[in-house]
Amino acid sequence: MSDIARFPVYDLHSHTRASDGLLTPAELVQRAVEMRVGVLAITDHDSVAGVEEAQQTARDHDLPIKVLAGAEISTLWENHEIHIVGLDIDIHHPAMVTFLAGQHDCRRTRAQEIGERLAKARIPDALAGAMRLADGGIITRGHFARFLIEQGKADNMVQVFKNYLARGKTGYVPPQWCTIKQAIDAIHHSGGCAVLAHPGRYGLSAKWLKRLVAHFREAGGDAMEVAQCQQAPNERTTLAQYARDNELAASQGSDFHQPCPWIELGRKLWLPAAVEPVWERFPALAPGLTITER
Ligand code: AMP
Ligand code: MN
Ligand code: MN
Ligand code: MN
Repeated sequence: MSDIARFPVYDLHSHTRASDGLLTPAELVQRAVEMRVGVLAITDHDSVAGVEEAQQTARDHDLPIKVLAGAEISTLWENHEIHIVGLDIDIHHPAMVTFLAGQHDCRRTRAQEIGERLAKARIPDALAGAMRLADGGIITRGHFARFLIEQGKADNMVQVFKNYLARGKTGYVPPQWCTIKQAIDAIHHSGGCAVLAHPGRYGLSAKWLKRLVAHFREAGGDAMEVAQCQQAPNERTTLAQYARDNELAASQGSDFHQPCPWIELGRKLWLPAAVEPVWERFPALAPGLTITER
């Protein structure tokens, strides 16, 4: 067996043009292979529309990569927007199809309201602009951000979120996402495992973060992301400890959206020795016999 099959690099969180990523699913898979990723999960926001093209690309070109079907689901918990990644889901399962249709309704309503708020702030046509950039994919605040940058309202993503789209700002609309439990149940019904995404990025104090992880576990969650490519060194150790304390498996992912200097597919993704990797608890995520000697 080749090393890539025996010790694959796992990147279990990534985005395509089906939501707010900039690459097509085919381009994302090709790039992942160049970066020596052996297992890639496609996890677009509330969408599985990129999965089949990504898997087809790997098959058509006989690429040394396993492409997992996933989605990153937006939920609301204690007034915080918490993201739950579903891995290895059946994208055609009626439970998932119906669930995602509900999330799409929430996104459409919210996008309309964002457009109205920006119009009142004398920024017209933002909904049309964001929809043009989404190009038929899921509409996210990322698309509004790009539209606002296009309009010269800000120079970069960080600035545009800070000034227009973050909580409390002109273009922020409190969303009506589902609960954490509803997201976990939909993932389980469609055969997947549920992973708490980027726990360090919600701006929670240690006390609230512990509460979130415990709640996620009680709601039936399976794993939490412990490793990302951009993290303070002690964050990984802390998250590993929370995973162990709550008997959650550990996941890792770049949350890649587009080529940029500081985030890359597969980069700096490793787990502290003390945790149980999610692909060991759920062997269906591992390459198994699907990747052969080459
Ligand atoms: P939504 O799910 O529609 O609320 O959009 C959230 C997405 O916007 C995230 O997945 C990020 O891709 C992007 N985003 C959120 N906050 C920021 C930020 N401060 N800087 C850059 N991108 C952000
Ligand atoms: Mn995003
Ligand atoms: Mn996220
Ligand atoms: Mn993401």
